[in-house]
Amino acid sequence: MMIYLDNAATTKPNLQAVERARVYLTDNFYNPSALYKEGFAMQNDIKKARSALLSFVANEREFEWVFTSCGTESDNHAVFTFAKRGNAVTAEGEHSAIENSFKELQNRGVEVRKAPLEKDGSVNVEKLLSLIDEKTSFVSVMHVNNETGAINDINAIAKAVKQKNPRAIFHSDGVQAYGKLPVRLEKEVDLYSVSAHKIGGLKGVGGLIKRKSLVLSPYIYGGGQEQGRRSGTENTFGIMQFAFAAEQKYAAISADFARLSSYREKFWELLDRDIFTRISSENASPYILCLSAKGLRGEILLHLANDEGLIIGTGSACSSNAKTRYSRVLKACGYDNETADGELRISFSSETTEEEVERGAQILNAVARKLKGKMN
Ligand code: PLP
Repeated sequence: MMIYLDNAATTKPNLQAVERARVYLTDNFYNPSALYKEGFAMQNDIKKARSALLSFVANEREFEWVFTSCGTESDNHAVFTFAKRGNAVTAEGEHSAIENSFKELQNRGVEVRKAPLEKDGSVNVEKLLSLIDEKTSFVSVMHVNNETGAINDINAIAKAVKQKNPRAIFHSDGVQAYGKLPVRLEKEVDLYSVSAHKIGGLKGVGGLIKRKSLVLSPYIYGGGQEQGRRSGTENTFGIMQFAFAAEQKYAAISADFARLSSYREKFWELLDRDIFTRISSENASPYILCLSAKGLRGEILLHLANDEGLIIGTGSACSSNAKTRYSRVLKACGYDNETADGELRISFSSETTEEEVERGAQILNAVARKLKGKMN
C-alpha cells in the first residue's frame, strides 16, 4: 500500500461523503434552476449546503457564499473584479492563482506591490502595511502558505489594512486553511477563497465567501445562477459532497489539529538531521511539514521515495509546470538555491495514521542516505 503524504496537493475524496451525495448523480439529477418541484428541491438542498459550508467559518448575518468551480476561480474572481484601479498589494510567495493573476493585473495597467516574506513563509506585515496608501484598491494575503504551512493572522492584517485605507478591499486565499484551522472570519475580511479537494471534497468545486454588504460583480456571465454572481448550472453532486466532507472535517477540527501536530513533530524527530533541515516553523499549520535536503535534489528524492511506496511533494504541485527550477516561495523566504532545490513537502490529512508517519520517515531517510552516499 502506498503511503500518501501529499495532501496539500489534493486529498483522497471522502468516500462516505461520496456515498451520501451519490443520490445527486442518480435520482436527484434535476437542474436546480428548473421550475418543477424536483428542480426546486435541488435548489433547496444547495441552499442548505451553502449555509452549512459558510457557518463553519463565518457568521451568516455578515457573510455569504458563492459556489465556484475551484479555488483558482475564486481567487481570479476576487482579483479581477476588485483590483481595477490604483495599486494592488499582495506578498511574495502566494499560490500561482494569485501570483499569476497579479502578473496579469500589471498587463491591465494596475500597479502591483509585493511585500516580502519572513523566513518561515509568513508575510512581513509591517512591510505589507507600508505599501498601502490611499490609491490601494485591493489587498490579498493568503491564510496558510501551501508550501511552508506558515499561518498569517488574516483577521489582524485585514484590520490593520482597513485602518490605513478603509476603502481597500481585503481578500485572503483560504484554500489551505478551510477545514483545517479553527478560525472564524471577522468583518474586515471582505473575500475568502476555499476549495473542496483539499479536505476530502472533489476537484472542481470551490467557494468565494464575501462580506454581505460588498457588491460582487460577475466574473462568468450567463444564466444568472448564484444570484447572478456566477453563472453556470450548479455542480450539485460536487456541492453536496463538499458539504458532507466539510461537516466531518469541522466536527473533528480540534482533534485533527492536535493529532496532526504530534504527527508532524514525530515525522521531524524521526528524520536524519545530518540530511534534512526544517523550513516549517512549529506554529505553522500542522498539515504541512516543509523540509530541505540541502545538496540533494528534492525532485530526485520524490521519485526514489515514490519507488519505495511513499508519495510526497516538492513544494507546490501547481508550480511543477513553471519554468523556474527553484521554489519561488523558498527563494522569497531568503533561502539559497541549494536549499530551495532540496525542498520537500510532507503534507497530512485526517486519514493519515501514525504507522504511515513512522514508515514514511523511515523511507525518506533510507532514500536520502542512499542518494547522499552515491554523491559522496
Ligand atoms: N490556493 C492555494 C493556497 C492552494 O494550495 C491551491 C491548490 O493547489 C489553490 C489556491 C488552487 O485551488 P484549486 O486547485 O481548487 O484551483
